[in-house]
Amino acid sequence: MRVVVLASGSTGNCSLIMTRSHKVLMDSGLSGKQTKALLAEVNVDIRDIDLVFLSHDHSDHSKGLGVLMRRYPKIAAYANSGTWQYLLGSHKVGKLPAEQMNVIEPGQTLTFDELQVTAFATSHDASEPQYYVFSSHHKRLACLTDTGYVSTQVEQIIRASDAYLMEFNYDTMMLRNGPYSWPLKDRILSDYGHLSNQAAAEALADVVSERTHFIFLAHRSQHNNTKAKAHAVAAQVLAQQGNLPADVELIDTDPDCPTKMIHL
Ligand SMILES: [Zn+2]
Ligand SMILES: [Zn+2]
Repeated sequence: MRVVVLASGSTGNCSLIMTRSHKVLMDSGLSGKQTKALLAEVNVDIRDIDLVFLSHDHSDHSKGLGVLMRRYPKIAAYANSGTWQYLLGSHKVGKLPAEQMNVIEPGQTLTFDELQVTAFATSHDASEPQYYVFSSHHKRLACLTDTGYVSTQVEQIIRASDAYLMEFNYDTMMLRNGPYSWPLKDRILSDYGHLSNQAAAEALADVVSERTHFIFLAHRSQHNNTKAKAHAVAAQVLAQQGNLPADVELIDTDPDCPTKMIHL
């Protein structure tokens, strides 16, 4: 399995996961044009994308979905029924071709040849948020952003993965002292908001193992966090976790350019 985070942050999220016979997008929060351009930067033709998994309805995850589905009829898109219902009702992403809409509910695992995808529920202020674990040939990538906290059930599902795409959204002091209104700060800090650097690092420390080689530090706030702060907290908390291999890589993500491509 090969993985690259094409873009990550509150302006748009989209990652590419490639197995022997599938090219998969995890979330579609960029315009069609930007998705195509970032895929081209990693030498992938957008016409080869055959699966898209959507985490939740927020536009930084969903805004390109309608365009991609209409323009590329080969794409089979997956989300849970609550997310589809919301998107169909809100018309936020335009018309959705019914024959390309597929359902994966929290707790369900679907198999696509050598790829298995497991959905699990998260805690976030969207209609029915969920995230995914992608497995292929005994390698696992766990994706988790946009959640107010990490429950023990979620920890169980993402435990001992080879790679993580994990939300490091905010530095708590920067958020408290920053420009957002208090209602918005309260929302972000709540159990239905986002993970702080500290909360993300502590959750990771609970679940990583000697198998874990890559951690993408994702969905970083542009106002309430810095790359250096997220990276430092992750490194510091994980250094106290004895299991991790010495060569584990913490990979920073950006809102507008792809990360390195990892091979699992
Ligand atoms: Zn988001
Ligand atoms: Zn969200």
